Amino acid sequence: MAIRGIIGVLAMVGFLAGGFALADIAKTTTPDGVLAELLAGNTRYLEGRMQSHNLPAARKGLAAGQAPPAAVIRCADSRVAPEIVFDQPLGDLFVCGVAGNIPTPEIIASLEYGVAVLGCKLIVVMGHSSCGAVDAALTHRYDTNALPGNLPALIDQIVIPCTVTSDPNDPGALDAAIACNAQEGIGGMLRGSQIISDAVKAGNLKLVAGVQDLKTGRFTVLK
Ligand SMILES: [Zn+2]
Repeated sequence: MAIRGIIGVLAMVGFLAGGFALADIAKTTTPDGVLAELLAGNTRYLEGRMQSHNLPAARKGLAAGQAPPAAVIRCADSRVAPEIVFDQPLGDLFVCGVAGNIPTPEIIASLEYGVAVLGCKLIVVMGHSSCGAVDAALTHRYDTNALPGNLPALIDQIVIPCTVTSDPNDPGALDAAIACNAQEGIGGMLRGSQIISDAVKAGNLKLVAGVQDLKTGRFTVLK
């Protein structure tokens, strides 16, 4: 299906699901500009100068539609809250969450909607320090079946192979695995989505990965 056809289908799905308004692409800034705004918001968060008050008066406009400039893949961890950490109001971040912040098919499908229909210019893979999901993947890297319930199927999707040189007993291994897993999320999105990879090639979308330090609150973009 051509990209225009896919967008049409997604738009129809959005309409049927709740009347989402199509994004006004012209009103959004460049991908680099959106990233700069998120990092500026993180600085405000670090310094206690948060500006996103989510005033009641803003609700009416948001109920009519959404055009979030950025999307985020976040971990389910309760200490990871993109709207707070990037000091952004409701309606500005299209947040998709799963333990380990990995681009599962469901997460990718959600992001395709964010990009193709809502006009997101940036997708942030938001790793974080002390991630229990990545720790589980590292600890059980050779036998995730030791984990209870449905966890093996999830933890198996966390990318550890690129850290094979890390010793699980090395205190730096978890941080290395967290960074690696976040970085690999970019490749996972590009491989898993023609819509996302086409938008990146066209210069309409930027993908970045980073890690939030839970102690300081600082979000650092991985290079
Ligand atoms: Zn986590």
